[in-house]
Amino acid sequence: MYNHLAPYAVSDTNSRGRRIHENPPTGRSQFQRDRDRVIHSTAFRRLEYKTQVFVNHEGDLFRTRLTHSLEVAQIARSIARNLKLNEELVEAISLAHDLGHTPFGHAGQDALNHCMKDHGGFEHNLQSLRVVDVLEERYARFDGLNLCFETREGILKRATKSKAQTLGELGERFLRGRSTSLEAQLANLADEIAYNNHDVDDGVRSGLITLAQLEEIEIFARHLHQVKQDYPNIAEKRLIHETVRGMINTLATDLTVQSKAHIEAANPNSPDSAREMPVLIGFSDTIKHQQQELKRFLHKNLYKHYQVMRMSNKAHHIVTKLFSAFESGPTLLPFKYQHKFSDYGHQAIADYIAGMTDRYAIREYRRMFAIIED
Ligand code: MG
Repeated sequence: MYNHLAPYAVSDTNSRGRRIHENPPTGRSQFQRDRDRVIHSTAFRRLEYKTQVFVNHEGDLFRTRLTHSLEVAQIARSIARNLKLNEELVEAISLAHDLGHTPFGHAGQDALNHCMKDHGGFEHNLQSLRVVDVLEERYARFDGLNLCFETREGILKRATKSKAQTLGELGERFLRGRSTSLEAQLANLADEIAYNNHDVDDGVRSGLITLAQLEEIEIFARHLHQVKQDYPNIAEKRLIHETVRGMINTLATDLTVQSKAHIEAANPNSPDSAREMPVLIGFSDTIKHQQQELKRFLHKNLYKHYQVMRMSNKAHHIVTKLFSAFESGPTLLPFKYQHKFSDYGHQAIADYIAGMTDRYAIREYRRMFAIIED
């Protein structure tokens, strides 16, 4: 099944396995099983109603966390195949990487982190891991999804040293300053390619940023002019799509070529030897700088756009109000979370709020605070 994989790729044979022993799957690989478990999880279905920049009800045309995760998986898989990495593992990581996100994207996470500041804070990477390790309640023999080490390693992109100390085997790399598997490195950069480009696309289609503004950005301008030159009479909608498509292609190609060169030079002979090396999956310096320019642009002109800030402000208000109401009156929590509150304390409130979709959080806010419900 794995004869197409390079020696530095993660495989069923070199995997560190699952926390709770299970018989190997028949007819599919361990990482296909992980991917399948992610797809069947409750948290995965909720991604459809969670957003990053645009709140779900603002329009049906914008990306949700679900479509974002699918785009990340698509980009990561094509590159994985070219690098002879484990495509099923990058897919599982990509589909799972945002499972722990709060409603309302970063505004929701920042608010929840603030609410949890005296109780260990809140970080969506750690929460994604908590979803797959603890919170999913589907299997008879264990909590969570009992995923392989390598999938969990890929989900946990970041951790502080103090958190890492509580994470056992998974925390080691943060304490010892080691890298992740190449598959995890790849999924991380595929995430970056996906969100930068779809935020450009959604941003332009929403009217919050314009093509004229984007023409100041080198990587965008280059692709835009190419499309205009090839198709002088192209309609704007197609022009945007062709430009974004060109950028994704350039980034994915650059990442493939550069990473291939890094891998050839370092020549890791196993996933563990790759973990001992500096990060090998990466862009060329030129592309890295162009990506950073685009990121800065998006930050300034889209994420800080007053219309987005108004929504972020509302999100902050909703999350903070819900949290403080539950904190001062845990009996307001649904029974299930009241029980969890006695076991986990404030973390149970964070779990409840983080699990909400945008629209559920808005409804819950109304149920809690509207004197007359409409
Ligand atoms: Mg993401």
